[in-house]
Amino acid sequence: MADVSKIRSFATAAQYTENFIIKSQIDKYLPGGKHFIDEDFINRTIAEASSREVDPVKIREIIAKSESTCETLLPEETAALMQVTDKDLFEEMRAAADRIKHKVYDNRIVMFAPLYMSNLCVNGCKYCGFREGNLEQRRRVLTMDELKEEVDVLAGRIGHKRLIAVYGEHPSTSTEYIAETIETCYNRQVASPRTGAKVGIRRVNVNAAPLPVEDLKVLRSVGIGTFQVFQETYNRKLYEEMHPAWSVKGNYDWRVTAFHRCLEAGVDDVGLGVLYGLCDWRFELLATIMHARDLERWFNIGPHTLSFPRLEPASGTRVPEESPWLIDDDTFARILVIARLSVPYTGMIVTARESPQSRNRVINHGMTQLDCSSNIAIKGYSDFAKESYQDKERQQFMLGDNRSIDEWVRYLAQRGIITSFCTAGYRCGRTGGCIMDALKTGREGKFCKINAVLTFREWLDDFASDETKALGEKVIAAELQEIERWLPKFYPTVLKQYEATCRGERDLFF
Ligand code: SAM
Ligand code: SF4
Repeated sequence: MADVSKIRSFATAAQYTENFIIKSQIDKYLPGGKHFIDEDFINRTIAEASSREVDPVKIREIIAKSESTCETLLPEETAALMQVTDKDLFEEMRAAADRIKHKVYDNRIVMFAPLYMSNLCVNGCKYCGFREGNLEQRRRVLTMDELKEEVDVLAGRIGHKRLIAVYGEHPSTSTEYIAETIETCYNRQVASPRTGAKVGIRRVNVNAAPLPVEDLKVLRSVGIGTFQVFQETYNRKLYEEMHPAWSVKGNYDWRVTAFHRCLEAGVDDVGLGVLYGLCDWRFELLATIMHARDLERWFNIGPHTLSFPRLEPASGTRVPEESPWLIDDDTFARILVIARLSVPYTGMIVTARESPQSRNRVINHGMTQLDCSSNIAIKGYSDFAKESYQDKERQQFMLGDNRSIDEWVRYLAQRGIITSFCTAGYRCGRTGGCIMDALKTGREGKFCKINAVLTFREWLDDFASDETKALGEKVIAAELQEIERWLPKFYPTVLKQYEATCRGERDLFF
């Protein structure tokens, strides 16, 4: 394990901040001081929408536009959707959100797992268990050997193929460290417990602090998947309250321009999110849309994913219990539907922060990805025999949904949904601008279906319990029939790859 006391002495937060933030890389994206998050405009748009009666005809027009074009809605359209409280009209919105999800992403949910690399942090975010000065945390940074043990459990025991690697912000988890951890994850191969097939991690997404362009190019060179940075809140005043001015994270503009730098550096899958519960959800959602629109304006690429983290209890803080802006499950479900209609092409992630009831409920609200068998304690996967065990002293916050991957796959199969472990899009270069069009027209969804079948077959053979396997096979049979109906000429090629996978070949994809 890294020597934490040494690391702490080599940079204070202030020194780190001073050396890290490059002002010119902020100013470039705020030309003339004009900010793409215009708080007055956002507040005015919400106020105007709430001063008008909901017009069902207008709402249906907005739904139809979203569904037919798959283009990002205008702010006033999103604001109009936010006013809908009528149950039946909302149900029309939800059903459309589900149809759009099927058009763009087909009948699948993609699985991933979080992997926390470190809980050292120079920042002081008031809601977070990792913040500097929280003496209730036991600090550590994974060494590469420890990381290999974590990957062995994730890839070899659970069967994950896709990770979100998570880091505190600290000199000990520099860009070089992040790059080394990504490479270590990709290079590790283990034998699956049932078939002995070689299995490993095929996509490493990253959730880390904003980086300068040069550092992002380094991450690109080692094959980073999506780069996620959650804005936490777009409300500048609340942001400053939550993130002390002495910290790197205290710089709102450095954070909010993080994705502009990513796209400039060629890291073209970016994942936006806010921490719901810090501010009025309407403001946050509309600001997210403004953010997405600005990325589209500059780069013609929007968010690859939107995440919907909600404040959860964490060690040494009462903010998650006491914030005046906490949202209930009904509101959470509404947010997802409005987000799906507003940014129809984007992937939508709902994490294990949510309770099982909340996640079960929103499966058909437009979401596309979830994590399972998750353990977010540092070195939690290899230390605990049961993934669901939680240790508040070495994790950022507490998880709500501890279900295992086998339970989740079975549950989805019972609902007729296929679990996908596909990582092909990114490995075939279908990222950023190349994938936007394919998503909007529903073309990518067809590749997704085929790759979902192949990777699901792998997982069922390599990891599933007998009961889950039997249910999963029914889903595969239905999906294969649909592929044959859609793509009759191509079907024999698909079938050949499917049969090869059944015989034990691995990592076949289109
Ligand atoms: N340290 C980096 C940063 O803050 O950008 C990387 C991300 S941090 C490890 C992961 C995310 O967890 C944060 O962006 C925040 O949205 C979320 N988070 C922090 N405290 C939380 C809490 N109490 N409940 C739920 N999510 C929380
Ligand atoms: Fe550090 Fe991120 Fe936690 Fe803030 S949210 S204290 S930056 S780990």
